[in-house]
Amino acid sequence: MAEIFGMGTVGAQPGTIATGYIESAYLRDGSRVRIPLIIVRGVETGPVLWVGSTIHGDEIPGCEVIRRLTRERLNPTVLRGTLVASPVQNPVAFFTGTRLTEHDGVNINRVFPGNAKGTLTERIAYDLFHQGVAKVDAVLDLHSNSIGAVCFTIVRTGGSGKAWDAQWELADAFGISVAVGPVGQLGLGGTPSSGTLHDAAIGAGKPALTVELSGG
Ligand SMILES: [Zn+2]
Repeated sequence: MAEIFGMGTVGAQPGTIATGYIESAYLRDGSRVRIPLIIVRGVETGPVLWVGSTIHGDEIPGCEVIRRLTRERLNPTVLRGTLVASPVQNPVAFFTGTRLTEHDGVNINRVFPGNAKGTLTERIAYDLFHQGVAKVDAVLDLHSNSIGAVCFTIVRTGGSGKAWDAQWELADAFGISVAVGPVGQLGLGGTPSSGTLHDAAIGAGKPALTVELSGG
């Protein structure tokens, strides 16, 4: 039997679905950015998978993927392991329907693992990564290309070790076309430093995939 799984404001009992959020940066009016969470806590202990969407605010098909996963497909009373889903990983860019955060013009998927004292986008990245992604075992980051585009997952090359190898197992399990690409830049000690959520997760030892859906 699994134990309660806690993240942000959520405490998910085994065999249940619970919702809440990660509290992040303050906006100018004093309100706080809240990164939504839907946690499907399986009845049995097992791996914890992060599935996030809409890190770019105009890429919304992954929200529907998460709705189907959490509302229709997964039954926590027979599930081993836990799904942590965040349908809107950058709520500020989602609000304006833009790829970048309008407030500071930053692409959040170039600043991971974020900066607690940086710009608004860098603070959101910091909280998303350290309060969320850092607590799971594997990561899927759902993006979306234009309508009619071929769906594919991205597997990174340029490093070695367990997390790098496990990317391929994730890609096989996902079961669609795979695009292979090196990390943009490797920092000291081979740590990926391109600033994507994908590369930051691998740098923290967690197998990860960028998933490019289609639908605009
Ligand atoms: Zn994207």
